[in-house]
Amino acid sequence: MTAEAMLGAIAHPWDLSDEGAFTVCNNLRAMGFDTLLVQVKSFWARHPPSGDLPHNPERSEVISDARVYLDVDVKTYKKIKPVTASEVIRQAAEAAREADLKLYIFLNTLIDDSVVERYPGVAMVDAHGQRSNCWLCPNQPDARVYTKNLLGDALRLGVDGIIVSKAQYPPGCHYCFCDRCRAMGEKEGIDLGEVRLWLDHQDKGEGLNVGPIDPLIGYERGLPESVGQWLQWRRERITDYLMEVYELAKGRTRVGVCMQAPRSAWSVGQSYPDAEKFCDFVSPMFYLGLWKRHALESFGSRRLKDEHLKSWYRLQQYDGPPTIREFRLQGVDPSVVAQQLAIIDDLGLEAVSSFMIWDLPEEEILRVMDLNGEHGAIIDCYGWTPFQKMLAVGAHKK
Ligand SMILES: [Zn+2]
Repeated sequence: MTAEAMLGAIAHPWDLSDEGAFTVCNNLRAMGFDTLLVQVKSFWARHPPSGDLPHNPERSEVISDARVYLDVDVKTYKKIKPVTASEVIRQAAEAAREADLKLYIFLNTLIDDSVVERYPGVAMVDAHGQRSNCWLCPNQPDARVYTKNLLGDALRLGVDGIIVSKAQYPPGCHYCFCDRCRAMGEKEGIDLGEVRLWLDHQDKGEGLNVGPIDPLIGYERGLPESVGQWLQWRRERITDYLMEVYELAKGRTRVGVCMQAPRSAWSVGQSYPDAEKFCDFVSPMFYLGLWKRHALESFGSRRLKDEHLKSWYRLQQYDGPPTIREFRLQGVDPSVVAQQLAIIDDLGLEAVSSFMIWDLPEEEILRVMDLNGEHGAIIDCYGWTPFQKMLAVGAHKK
């Protein structure tokens, strides 16, 4: 099987320890998967986002915090030290080998509530001076060194590949205005006051309603000049961060980068046209189910939810359902998958799609897999997803 056709599932460390690494790997192999991806750095979250874990024999839910599940050599770390937990990766490596699965490390980079708590100076800061409680600024040298330290420990394992995740700004364009970023931006001659004003308009739902969106550059034409400069600068900063990471891993293992889908990547500072400089393949994230049924719950009022869905469709250059009521009921239509993959194919990039299918009905999963075509796929994640749904994906692949 070629690397392009990878079918993998992300397992969290507690999936491996609760179910047993050998059981997890044998299950994956039996369901038609060929790759195990181990998330070696967690952050604060509930697993699963709602309901119970479908096949964990020990627990019905897990509340994770920021921990590193790698065999780390703390002495080699500079200012920022990792908070480690039980190291399951070696057993996972042995189990993967026995089940004839490839082993990938899935590394969350710029999201880390434990680091922000202990080293608040490296956190991202929003336009109003509010410090993020979990995002590290890619322009802070200590944060970069920390990423490279973790990557070095992961590379020592001799894995088949690494997926770099959360190498981005958080969605919503509000970051980063830390002292360092402001100084850098001002040096570039960017009018940050005007950018702040634009962000305030966005917050009121007024920012996304003008002009066409450039399909590759992503953001809207007709923006204030300073906003265009600032968005471009954010892209350059994330590309620069990722290039530094890639430099360390290139040639030693295959490197993939988790990215927002192409038409909305601009909003988190990621660039598909730049991707060949920083990875061997891209892993576009298609959060279909999450958007539809859970993420929207966090938007409070019905009006805000509708506004947000409409913005989302518009950013994807997808017409979406014709009425507000249908927006509400349908959420994100799976056909966006094919549209977005066509953009990536046109750029000549290899894509391994990342899907959350745990709360999608089986017929929708099969439709999504059809739309994914010959591209590889990663299921996010093993622990949340009922076996019959993973089985459907594995059977579809064969
Ligand atoms: Zn910053």
